[in-house]
Amino acid sequence: MYNKLTVEDVEVKGKRVLVRCDFNVPLDAEGNITDENRIVGAMPTIEYLVNNGAKVILCSHMGKPKGEPVPSLSLAPVAERLSEKLGKKVVFAADDNVVGENAKAAVAAMNDGDVVLLQNTRYRKEETKNVDEFSQELASLADLFVNDAFGTAHRAHCSNVGVTKYVQPAVAGYLIGKEIDYLGNAVNSPVRPLVAVLGGSKVSSKISVIENLLKKVDKLIIGGGMAYTFFAAQGKTTGTSLLEPDYIDYAKKMLDAAGDKIVLPVDTVITEKFDNDAPAKVVEGDIPDGWMGLDIGPKSIELFKGVLADAKTVVWNGPMGVFEMPNFAKGTNEIAQLLADIDATTIIGGGDSVAAVNQAGLGDKMSHISTGGGASMEFLEGKELPGVVALTDK
Ligand code: AMP
Repeated sequence: MYNKLTVEDVEVKGKRVLVRCDFNVPLDAEGNITDENRIVGAMPTIEYLVNNGAKVILCSHMGKPKGEPVPSLSLAPVAERLSEKLGKKVVFAADDNVVGENAKAAVAAMNDGDVVLLQNTRYRKEETKNVDEFSQELASLADLFVNDAFGTAHRAHCSNVGVTKYVQPAVAGYLIGKEIDYLGNAVNSPVRPLVAVLGGSKVSSKISVIENLLKKVDKLIIGGGMAYTFFAAQGKTTGTSLLEPDYIDYAKKMLDAAGDKIVLPVDTVITEKFDNDAPAKVVEGDIPDGWMGLDIGPKSIELFKGVLADAKTVVWNGPMGVFEMPNFAKGTNEIAQLLADIDATTIIGGGDSVAAVNQAGLGDKMSHISTGGGASMEFLEGKELPGVVALTDK
């Protein structure tokens, strides 16, 4: 689907390279970075550029300053952490207007291999509106643009889309390159059988994902709270389980159209209260009045494992039950464990399933964990991502 230039396809030596990173890291009340995963994720592209003699100008948003300078959302702590990680000084250009006197002077003074970090791009109100003026200012600093921020790839902002109008080539960094490779290939040219596992709370929020994936997959496993709307479509009772009555007809149509492609749970762990310690039991088929399903049952786990055992590519989005409660995490954990064990390309597509896989300590056993919740959903929906589309074709 996408065939974009990457950092390795272009000459970077001596060039001023503007890199859009995702440094949207959480900070505590004292401004300390509490989770540096996103900084770690950005390192391969930054190190490649430094080692190959580029003048590296980094930019990113952090939080939602809503177009104004908000000191608590300054990227200054990121510059410090980056300096430690790179073992060399990262100059922080502390301009409230992002491309100001500090940034211009810092860039003018750069030698090959130097690194400058600009201030939070969302200090400028133009950023999220993709206004040309700010895009031009950003572009004026650079000879070449690299986008490595997958988390914002589904948005068209100045620092990832607008800027590409004024600085070319615009190429993919390693993080975005990996997302395109895995999510793109998995969905569009997979090694088969391709099995998708969908879960989470709502059918309504995943309709486009279901429709797009049904066209591409060999099997679609549906678990979690969204399964009960499909139960209702099959004429089963669902007790007090999550249910979206307005989507029962839709679920019926999907089941009719998909035939045996859709695989639903055959048993359910149920309780009378939404509470980890509530007494639970397993039922097959109908869920009785006053009871709610909070996890898939043991027979469903076996059924799903059987389907997944032959898979060569698996895409997973959404937990199989209320995995935040340990007593209802079994279905989710067992699927995570199976994906860790099977000989297949396993792709975890954003949000709660990433949390579930990490909670089970299996993150490093998956082929790819997508870093962009919203962006990976839109990828799975078959939508084009503006931040990727804007990059230069090979
Ligand atoms: P989503 O954001 O749509 O992927 O949904 C994730 C949420 O779905 C998690 O917080 C789960 O606790 C929740 N969930 C999964 N299964 C169930 C269920 N059977 N009943 C209620 N909530 C569920």
